[in-house]
Amino acid sequence: MRILLVEDESKVSSFVARGLMAERFAVDVAADGQSGLELATTYHYDLVILDLMLPKVDGTQVLKRIRSHNSSVPVLILTARDAITDKVGNFEAGADDYLTKPFAFAELLVRVKALLRRGPVSRQSVVRVADLELDRFTQQVKRAGKRIDLTSKEYSLLEYLMANCGRVLSRTMIIEHVWDQSFDGITNIVDVYVRHLRSKVDDPYERKLIQTVRGVGYTIIDEAET
Ligand code: CA
Repeated sequence: MRILLVEDESKVSSFVARGLMAERFAVDVAADGQSGLELATTYHYDLVILDLMLPKVDGTQVLKRIRSHNSSVPVLILTARDAITDKVGNFEAGADDYLTKPFAFAELLVRVKALLRRGPVSRQSVVRVADLELDRFTQQVKRAGKRIDLTSKEYSLLEYLMANCGRVLSRTMIIEHVWDQSFDGITNIVDVYVRHLRSKVDDPYERKLIQTVRGVGYTIIDEAET
């Protein structure tokens, strides 16, 4: 697996690159947006880790140009900023995930592995399962045209399930993807959140979309289509 790391802070880039190489990834490092873009459009990468605040060409521009060249490589954004407008703008430009600085290497590794497992995905903003609809730009969820209000964790959980529609996700996979290092290890947390999510997304409707796979985990599926 070959990873491109575009990061101008040498401390951050050497700590990330060393960590990834220790995990047996091949890592190319670019210290500014322009060389990052040159590498990204010259070589084939399995993943790009991209800082937003970069000299020469900023991260958002790099992302847009990577997307116009190669629409499917997963891109993980590193950012010191946590503004929702940034996230919306960059999701629109084609980011797959975010990590806010400072971060622990373990957390980065979890995100990297999750993106690599998922592989290239469709970049449509709206994901649909039956009459359930999730918009990644506006972060709005609707079922049968009716808006459903979710907490941010419920939203992340639903987004992860819907992005992997039909695929069974284990509790471990869900925890790794939806919770961060602040997760304190309550073992039934996934079940608790799935219950909350079901009460909003499935219980009021006749057709149940979220399925429990006994002994394994959960999946979301449109049974009418299988
Ligand atoms: Ca930077």
